[in-house]
Amino acid sequence: MNDVSSDLSEEVTAPRHFIEQIIDADLESGKHETIVTRFPPEPNGYLHIGHAKSICLNFGMASEYEGRCHLRFDDTNPAKEEAEYVESIMDSVRWLGFEWGEHQHNTSDYFQALYDYAVDLISQGKAYVCSLSPDEFKVCRGAPTRPGTPSPSRDRSVEENLDLFARMKAGEFEDGQYVVRARIDMASPNLHLRDPSIYRIKHADHHRTGSEWCIYPMYDFAHGLSDAIEGITHSLCTLEFEVHRPLYEWFLEQLDVPATPRQIEFARLNLTYTVMSKRKLQELVEGGNVSGWNDPRLPTLAGLRRRGYTAASIRAFCHKIGVTKVESVTDVGLLEHCLRDDLNPVVRRVMGVLNPLKVVITNYPEGESETFEAKNHPSDPEMGVRAVPFSRELYVERDDFMEEPAKKFFRLSPGREVRLRSACLITCQDVVKNADGEVVELHCTWDPDSRGGNAADNRKVKGTLHWVSAAHAIDVEVRLYDRLFKVESPDGDSDVDFKTHLNPDSLTVVQAKVEPAVAELGVGEPVQFERMGYFCVDSDSSPDGLVINRTVTLRDSWAKKGK
Ligand code: ATP
Ligand code: MG
Repeated sequence: MNDVSSDLSEEVTAPRHFIEQIIDADLESGKHETIVTRFPPEPNGYLHIGHAKSICLNFGMASEYEGRCHLRFDDTNPAKEEAEYVESIMDSVRWLGFEWGEHQHNTSDYFQALYDYAVDLISQGKAYVCSLSPDEFKVCRGAPTRPGTPSPSRDRSVEENLDLFARMKAGEFEDGQYVVRARIDMASPNLHLRDPSIYRIKHADHHRTGSEWCIYPMYDFAHGLSDAIEGITHSLCTLEFEVHRPLYEWFLEQLDVPATPRQIEFARLNLTYTVMSKRKLQELVEGGNVSGWNDPRLPTLAGLRRRGYTAASIRAFCHKIGVTKVESVTDVGLLEHCLRDDLNPVVRRVMGVLNPLKVVITNYPEGESETFEAKNHPSDPEMGVRAVPFSRELYVERDDFMEEPAKKFFRLSPGREVRLRSACLITCQDVVKNADGEVVELHCTWDPDSRGGNAADNRKVKGTLHWVSAAHAIDVEVRLYDRLFKVESPDGDSDVDFKTHLNPDSLTVVQAKVEPAVAELGVGEPVQFERMGYFCVDSDSSPDGLVINRTVTLRDSWAKKGK
């Protein structure tokens, strides 16, 4: 299932997207002989499906062109980063089917080199130590239509700047007392070029460098230079960094760097009915709105995996959405479609009743049982058959019975004959109710001549139901998931807290009855419960009981819409 190479060969023959066209040209012109990309997550949360787009693109380009892709932890922010996130990120990238080999790097590996680059800029008169507070500088910076006012520190001498920077590093100052700024252009229409800060003081331990540093480089400064240090040829990032590109290039031009990577922006993935920012996901985790970063309702890769998504389905999805510069929102139905597409041909079928209604076969001898042979897959005989036990008492789905059947309801109702999948025909003779008038049991008769299910007879029976034998069924907890949010764009309006759109019914827990074969499944192994969807065993399962996730229902709204 994790066969990446077959996906990639498909990509080579597909129409070239704009990044492939750029790389093709760079290889053809001899600008590069081999390409090097990187995936640069900040280890401040778990990866989500949006990151998968970036991972598939960066690692995908590396494989397609037989180059390499680095995994770089963008760990410039000491307060926020945690080792747990580093582990989960590596786990998710590997699970998606990608490998970075020896190229696991950290921006913190370059703290000394980045410090030296900053010293170089200062020595060239192209950076200075600024005494303004962030708020004061915001005022000085001006607006796009109005030039900024230079900081009073702008013309500090090189010597004084070098001295102050060394003392910043030595820990002589408080957080925020000084920053280092690139000295670029206070009148530039691009605010990012108005003397952006490149170093700040932060007395905080770093998960890798401990207390070695109390100054940390800013993202814009660190990122492009880290790309250069690693020899990245194409630095692929999302569109919001387009306005940062002149700054990215400015640093590379001023400094004597070992390589000049090219930044190329593409549109980020947005999905309906979900939020994708790590900050918001963290808010849900910390607020207890979900059970953790791997809650199966979250769009995190850990959550999707736990829910039963396959890596191949996520790669197929990323391939289908393509790579462009056009901002858009993708229908989550497409992701589900890719999953069904991946599971349908390979996943075995079993029967499980989610909302059980007891059926007594009154003409079946008490205490006896037999087995029927059921196909594990409707169209792949190689997947074999299994024995499904049958006895006098069964369960069917409560929704498969209507006392007064609506038009077009062809399932069980009084006097109606239906087929039990892979078993036989039964007819409903009596409805047993409790004191409140609720249906608690159906009395049916079976036709022993219809044994074996489908082939044996020519009777017109419209309904086919799934079922389990009461005596043989195992009890499991099934978690049914709905969308985590009630609206397509939960964070569409910045004046409204996205959490107000949480769907209170996003998780429903039911006690289900499933056929014994389910006990053989391992954690995470996908299975189809006939008619009910794709499921997998959850990691919350214990020897005391199985917990099963519904990964996705069988209804494919996306395919029906005709795309
Ligand atoms: P978030 O806003 O979710 O916190 P981020 O961009 O801050 O995301 P990073 O860890 O910095 O998260 O992201 C690592 C890489 O993944 C970056 O190159 C970023 O552009 C890319 N990425 C993040 N979100 C998406 C997305 N929705 N679609 C495509 N790429 C994304
Ligand atoms: Mg980020």
